[in-house]
Amino acid sequence: MRGCSENELIQICQELGLKRFRAIQLFQWVQQKAVTTWEEMKNIGERDRHALRSRLTFNSLEKVREQRSKDGTRKYLFRLDDGETIECVLMDYARTTSRDRHTVCVSTQVGCAVGCAFCATGLEGFRRNLSVGEIVGQVLDITHYVRQEDPDFQVTNIVFMGMGEPLLNYDQVLPAIQLLNQGQGLNIGMRRMTISTSGVVPQILQLAKDNPQVGLAVSLHAAQDEVRNDLIPMNRRYPLIQLMEACREYTQITHRRITFEVALTSKNAKREEAEALVRLLKGQFGHVNLIPINSVAGTGMERPDPELMSKFAQVLEDAGISVSSREERGADIDAACGQLRRQWEGEL
Ligand code: SF4
Repeated sequence: MRGCSENELIQICQELGLKRFRAIQLFQWVQQKAVTTWEEMKNIGERDRHALRSRLTFNSLEKVREQRSKDGTRKYLFRLDDGETIECVLMDYARTTSRDRHTVCVSTQVGCAVGCAFCATGLEGFRRNLSVGEIVGQVLDITHYVRQEDPDFQVTNIVFMGMGEPLLNYDQVLPAIQLLNQGQGLNIGMRRMTISTSGVVPQILQLAKDNPQVGLAVSLHAAQDEVRNDLIPMNRRYPLIQLMEACREYTQITHRRITFEVALTSKNAKREEAEALVRLLKGQFGHVNLIPINSVAGTGMERPDPELMSKFAQVLEDAGISVSSREERGADIDAACGQLRRQWEGEL
């Protein structure tokens, strides 16, 4: 039921002989109030609830573990109905000039087939795609848990940057975005959601055509094929020339700026890499976000020296490229994608 749109619930209510307003009430309980049981739906009578239960299953995700960082970041490990586990993260950003930002980083797959060299999720391989309900459910369950401490809590932003490659589960991710955006639900603005991809060219072009007005972040990480092939195996299938062509087409169609993510490790935080990035991004409407990676056991990658990072950023700035460094969150917990799940599975 958590994957159902308002219209789908209206259709189901009609088939059950229930009034249209019941569907709207149901949708609001599930998607706006983020309740986790039928009993909490106070304005739906027992008879109608019984009829709805005969058609709809309503399962929240089981919270297996929660970690809290000193900076307020919370990381959750959730168990799905089939026993698989996924991670998602809530990051709070206090703002003085605008309302506080509460960003949820959601997973879109169990495991991941892409196998990026710096990623704990990639080490596990691909298990399965998440459904619309499982994707949206992460945001609903986090909302539910935080509201127990802060009843006014609202998620304001979503990033599809958790476990999995979102564009390899496009058919579930797109309706999940539309559901999270619905006015009677969590009502999260399209421009407050960002899809991050390792560079799946056909789906970047599809996203441009569908143009849901969400942000697009491309995990570039390297500007030369020889280097990127080792970091992101997807590059062998869609090399940089194809990826950049797709990015140009995306900005032409959508007029939206792409964020290019560059994870800096001890291996790629070098001047020649920064210069190659300047050449690659020439004429591209975009912004570069530098990410110092958390070291992950088993990947052989180390965090780069902060001085190397600022020199890297300076090369980009000198070339007129807009650049920022990602604020580090959750450094004292297993915040890098896939780390908590690996640690937990290792204990079993
Ligand atoms: S970084 Fe993302 S795309 Fe790459 S292996 Fe990890 S989850 Fe998959």
